[in-house]
Amino acid sequence: MNNSFQIFKISGISIRIDYTWFIVFALVALSLGGNYFPKIYGGWPPELYWAMGIVTAILFFASVLAHELAHSLVSKARGVPVESITLFIFGGVARITDEPKNAGSEFWMALAGPATSVGTGIVFWLIHLLVGKSRTPIYALTAWLSYINLLVAGFNLIPGFPLDGGRILRAIIWQITKDLKKSTRIASVIGQIVAYLFILWGIRVLISGNLFNGIWIAFIGWFLLNAASSSYRQLAMREMLRGVKVREIMVTDCHGLPKDMPVKELIDEQILYTTRRCFPVTDIDKIIGIITLHNVKGIPKEEWENTKIESVMIPLEELKTVHPDDDLYKVMRQMTEEGVNQLPVLENGQLVGMIARDNLLSFMNARSELGI
Ligand SMILES: [Zn+2]
Repeated sequence: MNNSFQIFKISGISIRIDYTWFIVFALVALSLGGNYFPKIYGGWPPELYWAMGIVTAILFFASVLAHELAHSLVSKARGVPVESITLFIFGGVARITDEPKNAGSEFWMALAGPATSVGTGIVFWLIHLLVGKSRTPIYALTAWLSYINLLVAGFNLIPGFPLDGGRILRAIIWQITKDLKKSTRIASVIGQIVAYLFILWGIRVLISGNLFNGIWIAFIGWFLLNAASSSYRQLAMREMLRGVKVREIMVTDCHGLPKDMPVKELIDEQILYTTRRCFPVTDIDKIIGIITLHNVKGIPKEEWENTKIESVMIPLEELKTVHPDDDLYKVMRQMTEEGVNQLPVLENGQLVGMIARDNLLSFMNARSELGI
């Protein structure tokens, strides 16, 4: 999740670069400087082509950033918070932490991006026309930038969720049906169909001999497929967990284990003979940490007897805790973000229970089997 670093901040939004972005940046700069520009505008010195390749790639990703920023600013203006924008291998993605509040907001949020790309494309085209008499480097790169921005707008307007076009489609269905879940399902199914078409197209291009483009197109299809199905799952999950409190499903029979208990005793008497997988560790009656199956897995069997659980537990200071009145959806996100499977529930500094991913999953399974 965190393979990215921040480059700057714009109105509270963290602008980040994912490491995979360097691959696509290099590909764009190389193919422009090493192939496209020399082919179309022959006779210039090679250093000039490379410089043009790099400058054009920078301007291209600045345009992608403008596209994402447009989504984000409209989103913020409509009261939906935006955490960050990340440039990665497939372009840019804005991390918007909640669903838009109504169909109108979704519609304008989604439209803002492609509209900005069209605008950027037109601006580059005008510059291209203004310098248009002779074939200068600016003439060359504005031509490409204008074309690519219009292509970005066109690609994003494909009506497959979660592409912008799919979001616009979802907003329209949402406006008509007044049902966010249903409209997300429809938009996500269309998104998956679009994704399969991309994969098939990629395979066709690949068979026809264009290996690189074929793989690239199929790869985009695969990415869209994942995004389409996971955005529906996420929404369904959010709907299910929203408004349910930690208190309602947390496990409360958490008997603390004394900190000087040997790991062998923990395994023999607790882990092997109970269904619990996570135990609070106590010092007299104060909680000082938790120990899970995961923490003892790496310890060699001969050392079980002599290792105290205190030395392998996760100390309380390193643990994020939740409150009994926290929303389950928030807890689920917290677990995912921190890569943990359980969190202690604290009220007024006292441990009142534990909540595990398993609890959330069985809660959701029961609900979906009952169809509620
Ligand atoms: Zn967009």
